[in-house]
Formats: sequence, C-alpha cells, structure tokens
Amino acid sequence: MAAPAGRWVEGNGCMATGRAEPDREMAVLVVEDEEPIRELVTTALRFRGFAVQAAATGRDALALGRNVAFDLIVLDVNLPDLDGFAICRKLREGGNTAPVIFLTARDDPADLREGFTGGGDDYVTKPFSLEELVLRVEAVLRRTRPTEAGPKRLVAGDLVLDEAAYRVWRNDDERFLSPTEYRLLHYLLLNRDRVVSKSQILDHVWHDEFAVDPSAVETYISYLRRKLDDRDGQLIRTVRGVGYALRTPDGDRPLP
Ligand code: CA
Repeated sequence: MAAPAGRWVEGNGCMATGRAEPDREMAVLVVEDEEPIRELVTTALRFRGFAVQAAATGRDALALGRNVAFDLIVLDVNLPDLDGFAICRKLREGGNTAPVIFLTARDDPADLREGFTGGGDDYVTKPFSLEELVLRVEAVLRRTRPTEAGPKRLVAGDLVLDEAAYRVWRNDDERFLSPTEYRLLHYLLLNRDRVVSKSQILDHVWHDEFAVDPSAVETYISYLRRKLDDRDGQLIRTVRGVGYALRTPDGDRPLP
C-alpha cells in the first residue's frame, strides 16, 4: 500500500511521501519519444522542483537545446528521427555545455563509449526506476554546478568576442557585425582550431532556415574577413573541399 518514505511509486509517477527541497529551480530538458515514459519523468522531476520542458523528437530537442539555457538534459538514445548521441554531439558543437544523462535500452559497451565520447555525463539503462533517475540527475548537477559559467569572452589572439555584451574587437578596435556575421564568428570561435564544414555552419548559424543557399556561407565568410581585416584568410582559413577553421596564433585552444 503505502510506499516507503521518499521512494517513488512506479506506475503513477507520484512521490508517496518525503522531501521536495530543490536548491533552486533548475531547468531540465527531457527528450523521450515514448509518451508514458516522457510524462512520468517530466512529472517526477517537476515534483522534485525542477523546471522541466519536454521534447518527443530529436529535431525539437535540438531547437530547444539551442535556444534555452538548460542546467541538464535527459536524452533518450533511440528516437525516431535523430539518434540521442548525434543530438548530444550537435549541441556540443554549437557550444551547449549542459550535462547530459542518456536514457538507453542498449547496454552494449560500444554504444555507451560512443555516448561518452559524444559528450554524455551519465546514463541510465531502461527499464529504470524514477528514483534512480532523479538521484542521477541530482548527482550530476552536484558534480557539474561549481563549473557553471555564465556568458564569457571567447579569445583567439587579438580577436575577442564578448557573449554578454554581444560585441567583437580585433586589436582593441571594435568591429560591428550583423547578427548573422556575429553568429558565424561565434560558431567559428567555439570551434577554434577545428575544421567545420559548410553544412555544419549552415546547420548551426542558420538553424532551420532550409532555404538558405550553401553559397551564403562563402559570402558571409568573406564579409567577416573584410570586417576583421583578414583579407589574406590567415585568421579564418579555407580548408579546401572541407570547410573553414578559425586559427588561433599558437594553434591550440586557450580557455577564455
Ligand atoms: Ca525511445
């Protein structure tokens, strides 16, 4: 009848009794295509004091993950459109650093390795208890919260982009970029010293505007080079047949 104190009652997603004392309202994204599981997890985390948003497809998850600052993402691996590992990789490439807990029916070590190299922080294998998942969520948040960072400055040599102020300087001289130029430079800076393809740029800078002509990437790269006094392409390098790479002077990735 009555569940033990503080334990989740499987099947109805309600907490029988116990504590509900979140430190503050933290935002969690739950991505799961199976509606009953999505509802249970969402309800359980809300009851625990989290602000929860839910997505049923990879596409919705990417859109939300790119536009909302979540403290943590619970990400199902098997989704009808995009694989959870691919979603995680895309979010990371776009600069999203929210910790990820994978929900997986797969317990193949190779799959799990893929998850962690793709930027996951933990995983829960289905079937799981809601209590276990909530404990994992809280543990990952405890582990990752001290490094929680707000907007920051991205630096590459004499190039500086201030995320909070939405401003860019080169050689201490402010450069005034259009919103698209800014998003393009921001994406290149997040991936500095790494080659990004035109399709990755289209995906991250123009998001879901599918009508964009791929030649727009070249056009905006040339705008950026002009505004950043990089006419010889030493800062934003063209990697023939692959894409572009923003090079830092010493070729490594110094932290801002
Ligand atoms: Ca699924």
